[in-house]
Amino acid sequence: MTQSTQESINLLNFSREKLIAFFAERGEKVFRANQVIKWLHQHCVEDIAQMTNLSKALRQELADNCVIAAPEIVHEQASNDGTYKWLLRLHDGNCIETVFIPEGTRGTLCVSSQVGCALDCTFCSTARQGFSRNLTVAEIIGQLWVAKRSLQPDPKANRVISNVVMMGMGEPMLNFENVIDAMQLMLDDNAYGLSKRRVTLSTSGVVPAINRLADRLQVALALSLHAPNDALRDQLVPLNKKYPIKMVLSACQNYLDKLESVREKITIEYVLLAGVNDSDEQAHELGNLLKDFPCKINLIPFNPFPSTRYQTSSNNRSHRFQAILIDKGCVTTRRKTRGEDIDAACGQLAGKFKDRSRREIHFSRLETKV
Ligand code: SAH
Repeated sequence: MTQSTQESINLLNFSREKLIAFFAERGEKVFRANQVIKWLHQHCVEDIAQMTNLSKALRQELADNCVIAAPEIVHEQASNDGTYKWLLRLHDGNCIETVFIPEGTRGTLCVSSQVGCALDCTFCSTARQGFSRNLTVAEIIGQLWVAKRSLQPDPKANRVISNVVMMGMGEPMLNFENVIDAMQLMLDDNAYGLSKRRVTLSTSGVVPAINRLADRLQVALALSLHAPNDALRDQLVPLNKKYPIKMVLSACQNYLDKLESVREKITIEYVLLAGVNDSDEQAHELGNLLKDFPCKINLIPFNPFPSTRYQTSSNNRSHRFQAILIDKGCVTTRRKTRGEDIDAACGQLAGKFKDRSRREIHFSRLETKV
């Protein structure tokens, strides 16, 4: 697969609207854009010559001006529990990670939105590497493209991507336009055709972006809360100083109010950190904060990484925390960690690659809901 050159147009960078505009400039009708989107994102072809329902002349014109350039697989790993992890290299040498987690009939792809992250959440390993840059549309949707091509060859195995969570590296709301374009392709019937309930955008709470979201895209929204009050959240998620809890929850409520379906809920993510945010008292406080808020709470075991000051809460503690929340009337699940044998939390893959390239690479979490 060729990486994009400076002069060539990368077809994977186009949203549906932009592809329609691109063809309109060349005097082509809308259905051409749909045909090309199908070739790109349903058949995942890597060669324009394979787009056999386009005229030879159009194929030639596209081939002269465009490329199909996705991130390149540096390493692929399969876990005993069916989880896959890909290390992908971008054209500038930066690397990102994408993870596939099968569970029953469901297959969830965990997708990154940025190289690194600027938000500096204290319990997150991505924060350690700082922020490098936003991913392009091609690099975001390219993660689905690469995973689908990689998983496809064995149709008998249950390896269909049915769900996507924007929970890899980065803050998707701070790469708003590219994330919207890529997520629209995830929902587009001519592209990945995923149901909007099965595509989740996870945010630390960038209020202005949450306010703009519903007009552009309707997907499941997850909020990384992690604390029941502002004093603690200010420490764990520094963005809270700018957009405190009440403000974020009210933006989330407004988002739900604008959705077509009235049954939707926000997923509240809460990483349990031993002795920091996992006491009975904090569970009560969280329950009181959320008992009338339309949400389901997902308790996440902390994935430790080298030099972190935090520890994972015990099983007993997290059960007790969950029980208090359920008692308050909050729908609460606990997330199960997956793919541990392929070193999901702070992967050896990253270490090996670092030796070769001398670049720091983050390996994100590898988890799924129970
Ligand atoms: N920036 C976005 C999306 C990326 S993080 C957000 O904050 O939501 C995706 C999820 O993984 C978030 O809920 C985040 O809090 C969680 N997470 C980060 N570091 C973790 C760790 N070490 N262990 C477990 N979960 C972690």
